[in-house]
Amino acid sequence: MYEKCVNLLNERGVQLDDIAELVEILQGKYHPEVTRPQILEIVKGVIGKREVQHAIITGIAIDKAAEREEGSGMDPDLRRLLLKDWSLYGIDEVLAYGICNLYGSIASTNFGYIDREKPGILKTINKHGPQCNVFLDDIVGAIAAAAASKIAHTNAKEGE
Ligand code: MG
Repeated sequence: MYEKCVNLLNERGVQLDDIAELVEILQGKYHPEVTRPQILEIVKGVIGKREVQHAIITGIAIDKAAEREEGSGMDPDLRRLLLKDWSLYGIDEVLAYGICNLYGSIASTNFGYIDREKPGILKTINKHGPQCNVFLDDIVGAIAAAAASKIAHTNAKEGE
């Protein structure tokens, strides 16, 4: 399942290195000693969790279903909401919270930050094109937020 999830992310235009870059944006100021290879291992660890894998395959399946032509299975109202990436549709964020919740409150605040700022790959994902990325951006942001939270918890000295 891990390989499948990484392949799905790659297929949708996201490399693990893109996620590592987001982690550096979130955590680099606080823990510059953590190297890119170490960050990549932490990102892989996050994707190694079963609940994260389930969020990845569920979210990307919905994105891909929305891209299929009308009448191919998805509720037309839902399809319209997704293709518009309507700002008041928030189920994509709710799915991402499932990832953040595994890594504590720091993951949620990290997620809120990158979801608003949309740095790096998130900016690219959010450009509207033929591909529907409604769930993808939140999944990618949440994986980065979770990895950054793990770095914070692993490297923090008491009272810091
Ligand atoms: Mg979204």
